[in-house]
Amino acid sequence: MSIHRLANLIDGRLQPPQHDAWLDVHEPASGKVFAHCPDSTAVDVDAAVAAANRAAVGWANTPAEQRAQCLLRLADLIEARLEEFAALESRDSGKPLALARSLDIPRAISNLRHFAAAIVTWDSESHAMATRTPGTGAINYTLRQPLGVVGCISPWNLPLYLFTWKIAPALAVGDTVVAKPSEVTPCTAALLGELSIAAGFPPGVLNIVQGRGPTVGQSIVAHPQVKAVSFTGSTATGAQIAAVAAPQFKKVSLEMGGKNPAIVFADADLSDANLDTIVRSGFANQGEICLCGSRLLVQRSIYDTFRERYLARVRALRIGDPQDAGNDLGAMVSQAHFDKVLGCIEQARAEDGQVLCGGHALSVPGRCAGGWFIAPTVIENLPSSAQTNQQEIFGPVVSLIPFEDEAEALAIANDSRYGLAASLWTQDLSRAHRFGAQLEFGIVWINCWLLRDLRTPFGGAKQSGLGREGGSDALHFFTEPKNICIRY
Ligand code: NAD
Repeated sequence: MSIHRLANLIDGRLQPPQHDAWLDVHEPASGKVFAHCPDSTAVDVDAAVAAANRAAVGWANTPAEQRAQCLLRLADLIEARLEEFAALESRDSGKPLALARSLDIPRAISNLRHFAAAIVTWDSESHAMATRTPGTGAINYTLRQPLGVVGCISPWNLPLYLFTWKIAPALAVGDTVVAKPSEVTPCTAALLGELSIAAGFPPGVLNIVQGRGPTVGQSIVAHPQVKAVSFTGSTATGAQIAAVAAPQFKKVSLEMGGKNPAIVFADADLSDANLDTIVRSGFANQGEICLCGSRLLVQRSIYDTFRERYLARVRALRIGDPQDAGNDLGAMVSQAHFDKVLGCIEQARAEDGQVLCGGHALSVPGRCAGGWFIAPTVIENLPSSAQTNQQEIFGPVVSLIPFEDEAEALAIANDSRYGLAASLWTQDLSRAHRFGAQLEFGIVWINCWLLRDLRTPFGGAKQSGLGREGGSDALHFFTEPKNICIRY
């Protein structure tokens, strides 16, 4: 059986990579190769940037309503094939089909619709001022003009969700885009590329170059005609991108790793529903969500009873074939990541961590026999300084940490080089506000998790991020403000 070959989208045409080189794309649930992804090079990036440059003036001058129409048509086309997109996303990433169907693909559609609406309702700014001479003055107005060609680079954990989160605002404001999805999960972006032609984007407005980070990604970042780079991925890659972009004074938006705390106070409402959310916040998408809480801080006065209720729920999670609607967790995205997460669990043991459940790979019989499954793992008995509590594991691994009081909880929560997201569980609203304000994180959820309003600033503090995405922050990132002052 021949294996499906994905294409690049350059200048409005689906194209193979110019050097005819290909990468294997694996199905994590079986470990088998099911597609080939272009192993593109700088030559393909050059062609994409040239096409984007040719399209830039025309797209920038296209009325916002027409740009929005293209985004809305693309959203409709994806929605019409939601099942196909969800199946492909699940097959490519190992995530449960039910999650791709309920979260990933609907959110990708919402991203496109959100920024289509945002661009046609975006306020302009003006400031009237008096001058010293009576009867004279000036009016300032601020234009927010497209940058031209921008680069969008996305990771494998929420493939279409994060890919559209970047390209939608860039296209909405009138930039032209050279985008690179992760080579680990390239499939749904390739399908989106095909549909973008039918959606009516003029050739060159959206270009998708598939391939590896150090070749395609690096070439996008280094290209002198790429004016800004929006990146989501690991902190190590973010640092490399910043180093290449800085000497050219490019705008960069970096969404990077996390080591997020969930903090449970004794006065929390620990209803079954809330406990389910706390479990989900650690293990959703096999823990491969940058916002997952991998450090679970619990007030000592409720620690023992909480731990038993929590463990009972984690042990009840069903792991197996992502296509089976009965499963809560699927497979790890790749052999390399599977090995990394198992290595982190071994490290936790070596640090004297006590594994309360999981702690090992799982073999799933049948078609998933070669898949990369890991049992949901809960560890305790490790100090905040342990590697397990400091390094991003990005898998189904949660570390339980007891604390005495608010001061200790805050010290532990902030004891991290990362600062992406925190969730806080308490019924005391004064504490919620006081504590939330002192957390060194870009996103704080009180009595909830992953509740997202796309208008809000999204991003991390410390080594989790630089800049913010979402709402007007994204529109600002992808434009250059220009103030014009007219004296009268
Ligand atoms: P990664 O950094 O390995 O890769 C991300 C993307 O960057 C991929 O498309 C990759 O090909 C590309 N890339 C790699 N090297 C590059 C280079 N030198 N120049 C340009 N591009 C390059 O990350 P990953 O393993 O795909 O994703 C997991 C990471 O992403 C985790 O650390 C996770 O926390 C983070 N993440 C963060 C957020 C957030 O919003 N902060 C969201 C999702 C994932």
